[in-house]
Amino acid sequence: MSHFICPKCDEKHYIFGDGGAKKISEQFHIPFLGEIPLNSGIMSGSDLGKPIMITNPDSPSAKAFRSSAKNIAAQCSILASKLQQEMASEGTEPAPEASTTS
Ligand SMILES: [Zn+2]
Repeated sequence: MSHFICPKCDEKHYIFGDGGAKKISEQFHIPFLGEIPLNSGIMSGSDLGKPIMITNPDSPSAKAFRSSAKNIAAQCSILASKLQQEMASEGTEPAPEASTTS
């Protein structure tokens, strides 16, 4: 939860401060995955078992979840590639692929 998009002025309000997670990710050299806007629909939907991806898929929060999920998938791919390279350089066989991709 990084900011609140105000329904009155349509501006982003950084309730917890702006850029803290990004700064820490840079400091520790870890990937920054994204910013999820605060949205009461996330909480109420989660309590009902209805994620915001279903109840309001075009909302900024749902878009932020999609973007973060893509970043996580990209990081998994990068890590898998590095692991395969390490294993290849050590002369060990890489683990079988869990899925086929092109
Ligand atoms: Zn406002």
